[in-house]
Amino acid sequence: MSRSRTLSKRGLLLVMTGPSGVGKSTLVGRVQEQIPEVRFSVSCTTRPPRVGEVDGQDYFFSTPEQFAERLGRGEFLEHATVHGNSYGTLRDHVLNEVERGGVVLLDIDVQGADQVRASGTPASYLFILPPSFEVLEARLRGRATDSEEVISRRLGVARSEIAEAGRFDFRIINDDLDRAAGEFVGLVESLRAELA
Ligand code: 5GP
Repeated sequence: MSRSRTLSKRGLLLVMTGPSGVGKSTLVGRVQEQIPEVRFSVSCTTRPPRVGEVDGQDYFFSTPEQFAERLGRGEFLEHATVHGNSYGTLRDHVLNEVERGGVVLLDIDVQGADQVRASGTPASYLFILPPSFEVLEARLRGRATDSEEVISRRLGVARSEIAEAGRFDFRIINDDLDRAAGEFVGLVESLRAELA
């Protein structure tokens, strides 16, 4: 985390955080439909793939040994243990794209967002909120891909993450997908306009 790198202001790095089950992946998909230049940063993780997830597209699925090797080589802009698994953002993937003037979106947890802030990398910070905790719980249970133990753990983490939302530059409530996606697109457009 101590390595720093000078970054031109040409591109846009948008760090998105929000509890598991809040609908971040779906929102990102909608934003990319409307602004195809938005690049999603594919993280490395030691979590096993869920049904339908594709290696290199959703995540780079890694063994703990592969993850530790990348960490040792200083390849991560930030990394954290989330719900018992390791996750990390590949520094070069992200910074090269931003230096080329691209718009890069990270989906990382609160700990990771704090590390990006501490790295001094210019970025904007967005928190995605559920309309209520009850709605989040229902969504996580409805996903039904995770065990009860995993769901309970995620709900506990969600409570503490939501408590941090006030520290972010922007907050979007995912109450209605079309409305929230529209707000998200508007945010990306206004941040890009500031760069121009
Ligand atoms: P999931 O396992 O549901 O895909 O993701 C679990 C959590 O890990 C989410 O809150 C997501 O934002 C976070 N996450 C995904 N990739 C990264 C990463 O590269 N770094 C950090 N710090 N968190 C990540």
